[in-house]
Amino acid sequence: MSRGLLIVVSAPSGCGKGTVLEKVKERSPFWYSVSATTRQPREGEKDGVNYFFMTKEQFTELSDKGGFLESAEFVGNFYGTPRAAIEEKLKQGTDVVLEIEVQGAMQVRAKCPEAMLVFILPPSVGELERRLHKRATDGDDVIKKRVARAAEEIPFAMDYDHVIVNDELETAVDELVGLIRSEKDVRRRRRELIEKVLEERGNKV
Ligand code: 5GP
Repeated sequence: MSRGLLIVVSAPSGCGKGTVLEKVKERSPFWYSVSATTRQPREGEKDGVNYFFMTKEQFTELSDKGGFLESAEFVGNFYGTPRAAIEEKLKQGTDVVLEIEVQGAMQVRAKCPEAMLVFILPPSVGELERRLHKRATDGDDVIKKRVARAAEEIPFAMDYDHVIVNDELETAVDELVGLIRSEKDVRRRRRELIEKVLEERGNKV
C-alpha cells in the first residue's frame, strides 16, 4: 500500500478555495482535515464539520498537550490542525488535505517535507474584496482586515510548490486535480524504481 499524499492548500479567504476543493474531491477523493478554531461559527457552519469550535482555553490546553500538527493566529483568532488521524490516513494510502493559512503551511513544510503545497490566488485583490462583500458573512471591519491580510499573504505564494489562479472555477479545479494526479504518479514511479533497485537485496522501501 503506497502512502497517501499530504496536500496543503492556502488561499486568502474569499478566494473560493472551499468550492474548488469540493469539486476536486469528487474527482480525486481525499480526507479533509477539520481544523480547530477559536473564531465564532458563521451562519450554517457546524461543529465537527466545518471546524471544531473551541474556547481559547480549550485551544491552549490541546496545544500545550502537543495536539496540533501546526497552529497560527489569524485576524485575532487561533486555528490549528489536530494531529490525530492524519498519520493514520496517510499510512492507509488516503490523500489528506489541510486547508490552512501561510504560517501554518510553513510549519507543515518544516515538519513534513514530503507535503505538496498549493496556493490559490484570486484574479486580483480588488476582485477578492468584491467577493467578500458579496458573501456578506463578515462586517466591513473584518473584510478590511481580511483584505489587508490577503495582500500580506499573497507574496508567500513564492514558497509554495504550485500556484493556481481561481478565475474560472472549472479551470482551477482541472489544474488542481492535474497537479495531484501527476504528483502521485511521479511518486509511484519513483517508489517502483527504488524498490526495483533494492529488490536484489530483498529490501523494501
Ligand atoms: P476562516 O475564518 O475564513 O474560516 O479561515 C481563516 C483562515 O484560516 C483561512 O486562510 C484558513 O485557510 C485558515 N485556517 C483554517 N484552518 C486552519 C488551521 O488549522 N491552521 C491554520 N494555520 N490556518 C487555518
